[in-house]
Amino acid sequence: MIKQLIEDSRKIVIKIGSNTLSKDEGGIDKKVIQNISDQVYELIKKNKDIVIVSSGAGACGIAAINKWARKDDVHYKQALCAIGQVELMNAYKEEFERFGIHIAQMLLTRDDFNDQNRILNMRNTLFTLIDEKVLPIINENDTVSTVEIKIGDNDTLAALTATLWDADLLIMLSDIDGLYDKNPKDNGNAKFIDVVENVDTILDEVEIEGISKFGTGGILTKIEAAKRVNKYGIPMLLVNGKKEDIIIKLMAEEEKATLFKGK
Ligand code: ADP
Repeated sequence: MIKQLIEDSRKIVIKIGSNTLSKDEGGIDKKVIQNISDQVYELIKKNKDIVIVSSGAGACGIAAINKWARKDDVHYKQALCAIGQVELMNAYKEEFERFGIHIAQMLLTRDDFNDQNRILNMRNTLFTLIDEKVLPIINENDTVSTVEIKIGDNDTLAALTATLWDADLLIMLSDIDGLYDKNPKDNGNAKFIDVVENVDTILDEVEIEGISKFGTGGILTKIEAAKRVNKYGIPMLLVNGKKEDIIIKLMAEEEKATLFKGK
């Protein structure tokens, strides 16, 4: 089913979480960016249009300016993201240059999605970039997003992007094979869920816990993202982005993931 879904989807949003991109000891894992870029190129060669939503600016910032790592001040955190965003985009640029693909950066906030004029401008930019075969890479604009106006996490941003673009599929790369009935990191007997038919009632069936070390979302915002896109008939895959060639392997039916089916 997943193999067919990816094959049939022409417009795909791929969200990459900070946990997926970060090394355990901190900083960004360039090998992961390289492997994801390889897979995106494979999809582009299959005539698919791709939009990336990528976290990781904070982790990149810490790698660049280590002495700020323990600063709790929100302005320092925002400043770290501003520094790290350059590092992050530079890493993507280097990878996609191998294939002669231009990338473009779009920094957005939740407020942008509440304003008709901005929605129109974002759509137009997104469609123009894609028409011209440029690869858009979206992240939250941490410079202007303080707690009050923050989307909160890139899971929501990815879902908003998928609906804005009218995507065929949202692929959420995380550090886990998919959704379980409980957090498998704390429960050895957690049961894997292959397909979520009705996302609106799934919270009655699963236990969720934890907010990630780098990410702010946790599994709850992924379920919320699925709700958002499923409502518009867009399916979502929750996939383990830590595994090499995961999207290619899903297409070869060699790996599993959770499918939030949508109507
Ligand atoms: P990312 O940084 O990729 O966005 P998060 O750390 O925010 O990822 O969210 C994924 C984490 O959510 C998993 O690593 C897992 O430990 C945790 N989690 C909690 N409950 C569940 C559950 N029921 N099923 C799957 N993962 C869960």
